[in-house]
Amino acid sequence: MLVDYHLHLRASVSASEELDHTVEAVERYVERALERGVDEIGITEHVYYFIETRPFWALPYQLDRCREALGPYCDAVLEAKRRGLPVKLGLEVDWVPDRADDLAAVLEPFPWDYLVGSVHWIGGLAVDQKPGLWADRSVEEVWALYTRELEAAARSGHFDVLAHPDLVKIFGDRVEWDWQPVIDALDGVALEVSTAGLHKPVGELYPEARLLRGASRITVASDAHLAEDVGRDFEAAVEHARRAGFETVTVFDGRSSRQEPLG
Ligand SMILES: [Zn+2]
Ligand SMILES: [Zn+2]
Repeated sequence: MLVDYHLHLRASVSASEELDHTVEAVERYVERALERGVDEIGITEHVYYFIETRPFWALPYQLDRCREALGPYCDAVLEAKRRGLPVKLGLEVDWVPDRADDLAAVLEPFPWDYLVGSVHWIGGLAVDQKPGLWADRSVEEVWALYTRELEAAARSGHFDVLAHPDLVKIFGDRVEWDWQPVIDALDGVALEVSTAGLHKPVGELYPEARLLRGASRITVASDAHLAEDVGRDFEAAVEHARRAGFETVTVFDGRSSRQEPLG
């Protein structure tokens, strides 16, 4: 079985940021998935798009986008499920160190199949945009900051999956890293094998093998923001996962999981 468990529903126009939280968009994404041999997809919009979470955001980037309601987003995916489409309801949730429990409480009433945890910003500075965190820190300092927050996110118990786990390598600025503290924090949290990194300056899958080998379970994802990119480069993702010893992929349903043969 193959899943693409990290997707953002957008209008069909290339490079458009226009959201398209509709059944029709899910249909387009499923169609592309099936063409590429992907059996099931999961929609994981960024949490900061939703007004219910507004109190948690401070950056103009987040506040400018914080205009949607969670109800219609969930309803579009649930309606697609009702029509028999192989889709799961997820959300990409930014790690907010001091208020993670409060954010989890806001999200709790909705019928998620799984929640993906992400570290994109630390102290208001971006990991994946420059200058951001990189302005006046060494590469080693940025990696230390990032991995400390990733470890805390894993330990929080709020996430089923960690998205693009070694996102910090995005620009190709890297150091040899001891991933053991993150691995020890996973305790059943799945790592996402993401092909998105292949299209970033680093030009590699997330996560690197030494981290991946420490996980007990995985998902596979493209992080597509366009229907055409669903399932992109999945041969490489499956090969990477197999080489790290994985023979199964995690499938979620109502925040429970099971393992299915990979591929
Ligand atoms: Zn992300
Ligand atoms: Zn994403």
